[in-house]
Amino acid sequence: MDLKQYVTIVPDWPKEGIVFKDITTLMDNGQAYKYATDQIVKYAKEREIDLVVGPEARGFIIGCPVAYALEVGFAPVRKPGKLPRETIKVEYGLEYGKDALTIHKDAIKPGQRVLITDDLLATGGTIEATIKLVEELGGIVAGIAFLIELSYLEGRKKLEGYDVLTLMKY
Ligand code: AMP
Repeated sequence: MDLKQYVTIVPDWPKEGIVFKDITTLMDNGQAYKYATDQIVKYAKEREIDLVVGPEARGFIIGCPVAYALEVGFAPVRKPGKLPRETIKVEYGLEYGKDALTIHKDAIKPGQRVLITDDLLATGGTIEATIKLVEELGGIVAGIAFLIELSYLEGRKKLEGYDVLTLMKY
């Protein structure tokens, strides 16, 4: 299946110069969403994943159906102030802005093999921060899966040495 036909390109959103890749038109097509999920599940099965971790909000949309299919848990990575119990925090830079991410301190058991999911790899800042959170808690990043990779932003350079799957490249 050619997944790119379900992605909507939105120029100059959320600000001028950003070419936004809107995946809502992929998600609202049941067959396309299932096909994309199945590709990531196949990849994850080959890597013996114990837990899926994804940053809000689109990392949840990709990661939760994968966790369900694998019959493993899902741990959310969220912006500061959203998780109710004790967290650890990492700061990072975005393609359009700056932020920080947190995870519950007890979300990962040391030695667990983690799959990280998100919709899109841009500069790689978000995933780099997510990797730091996982590793700080003793998790092993056994795979990282995205629907989309913006190759021209060279986010892969930040992920050298990690096992990365992307279903579409621009
Ligand atoms: P980055 O940290 O730069 O790799 O940015 C990744 C995050 O920002 C992803 O979770 C995307 O949801 C979002 N993002 C960044 N750039 C775009 C874009 N051009 N189109 C859609 N989403 C984007």
